[in-house]
Amino acid sequence: MIKIGGFVPFTTIDFPGKMATVLFCQGCSLKCPYCHNAHLRSFTDIYEDLSWKELVGFLLKRRKMVDAVVFSGGEPLFQHDLLSAVTELKDLSFAVALHTSGADFPMLDQVYEHLDFIAMDFKLPYEEYDAVYNRKEHVLSSLRKITSGNVSYEIRTTLDPALLSPDKVIAMAEFLRDNGVKHYAVQKCRGPENYNVDPVKASVFFDNRFRNALQTVFPKVVFRQ
Ligand code: SF4
Repeated sequence: MIKIGGFVPFTTIDFPGKMATVLFCQGCSLKCPYCHNAHLRSFTDIYEDLSWKELVGFLLKRRKMVDAVVFSGGEPLFQHDLLSAVTELKDLSFAVALHTSGADFPMLDQVYEHLDFIAMDFKLPYEEYDAVYNRKEHVLSSLRKITSGNVSYEIRTTLDPALLSPDKVIAMAEFLRDNGVKHYAVQKCRGPENYNVDPVKASVFFDNRFRNALQTVFPKVVFRQ
């Protein structure tokens, strides 16, 4: 069953246009240095107080307020029972969104047709993926699935100055554009308390030079500060 590491009962910001409950799935094999949910990376350290059954009960009781569920993480695609969880919620008439790194393509392929929205992180220049995450092929297959399908989506990059430079992000944007991406967003890196994001280095991502360069690749790119 789905391992739930925590949840946010109500949010309007994680699923465009919906009042959603966000589930943080337990388990992720990636190691992003800016991860806010490092406590969720372990696959075994689950939040014992909340079972899937209890969670569905919670959702049904709030059916009039909540119309959607977001699977976030951790990495939801690493949950073996993701498909049954998603279809159960769809049968109950909830809209379902997925927040993912695209790190397990076969699972994305299985759940794709049941989803209503996907937000996928594109974290690094594609050629660096194998050195850091060892998920290069999964990420490209996931990207192609998402951009060639009918489910609403957004591809996102977190602008961590310790990992990325403006030139790298522009090259990433060009890669995404050339692979069919139409909806792209970049977001300010807000690491956890013990992760220092150098404000001077980070500021280059929000000056006009970078903005203009990125907008020549994606005229409608979303900047989140
Ligand atoms: S993919 Fe997400 S959950 Fe996994 S380490 Fe990176 S930020 Fe954290």
